[in-house]
Amino acid sequence: MTRTVTILGATGSVGRSTLDVVAQHRDRFRVVAVAGGSDAAALACCAKAVGAAFAAIADPGAGELLRDALAGTGIASGAGAAALREAAEREADIVVAAISGAAGLGPTYAALTAGRTIALANKETLVCAGEAFMRDARRLGAQILPMDSEHNALLQALAAGRAGDVESMVLTASGGPFRTWPRERMAHATPEEAAAHPTYAMGMKINVDSASLMNKGLELIEAHHLFGLADDRLDVVVHPQSIVHGLVRWRDGGLTAALSLPDMRIPIAHCLGLGERLALAGDRLDLARIGALTFEPVDATRFPCLGLARAALRAGGALPTVLNAANEVAVAAFLQRRIGFLDISAVVEEACLWGASKGWPAPSSIEEALAIDSETRRRTAEWLRQAPLSPPHRDRRSA
Ligand code: MG
Repeated sequence: MTRTVTILGATGSVGRSTLDVVAQHRDRFRVVAVAGGSDAAALACCAKAVGAAFAAIADPGAGELLRDALAGTGIASGAGAAALREAAEREADIVVAAISGAAGLGPTYAALTAGRTIALANKETLVCAGEAFMRDARRLGAQILPMDSEHNALLQALAAGRAGDVESMVLTASGGPFRTWPRERMAHATPEEAAAHPTYAMGMKINVDSASLMNKGLELIEAHHLFGLADDRLDVVVHPQSIVHGLVRWRDGGLTAALSLPDMRIPIAHCLGLGERLALAGDRLDLARIGALTFEPVDATRFPCLGLARAALRAGGALPTVLNAANEVAVAAFLQRRIGFLDISAVVEEACLWGASKGWPAPSSIEEALAIDSETRRRTAEWLRQAPLSPPHRDRRSA
């Protein structure tokens, strides 16, 4: 039987990997709708390649380009938030939610409200509105499948036992490009250096998050919502080879790990298979060739972002939402060379102190989450404009 799939974020790295998995199983999957951000040509290309019925582009200004690019194909198109919502709500067996950033919240929530099974790659949905999202998923009986490699690995490992027998879970982190750098060198790191992820090819924002380990912090918050474990039962270990993606520790002390080459198509295929393992072409993991799998603790002094995320999770309320918004502003400023790499954590820490003083409860809806998100962005951008620059920025500015 053919399974219908909608891909939100089709032109991004997860979206393109999803299209690749679908292309390997044309007899099994039919793509109903695709949605993208602002690249009309790339989105039109995706839509035509899979024969989608509908294509939606987030940027309202790119709507005409998309319509022209699809002229004569019979593929309908739309632009702006309403078009994205239409794509998310179309009848489909699985909606892949892979729009990155807070922009993914609305469309992902629209798919949930329509009762769709969601393969979730957008982190912000759980980080910014995790309580509301999981509550509504339970109420609507909607299935949420984690597509992020670590959480998908944990889901795979969980199949080895009963949920009630889990003692803790371990997420692995590659350690990023600065794993062995001293703090002084990190202070002068450039966006290009931060973008050089050792094991995965991803977008700029997530590359910087991987370099600061904020990505792992956000994943810790996601894991809490997906698996219902408190922060003291969620551990992180650095594993530079990115072969072991997640481990479940059982109450008898035994562990179950999920291993694979770092290839996003594997967690994607696991989600699309809905319990069945799909055949996938590609390299196979050769452990003898890799030789050694190594693990080391996270250096909290050089990577304060992980601790900030854990503190936000522990404090609860709207702090994870504040943390995420401040981080997005800080990463954007770093990519524009307005602040240094180590300033990212300083900006986030300051924003979290401000957020804690507000005492906001956890957002009970997507609208509340987005309101806190934009209030934090506005305030953090303002703070950045007024903050005295530390020496690395001055060097950077005069350079
Ligand atoms: Mg991940």
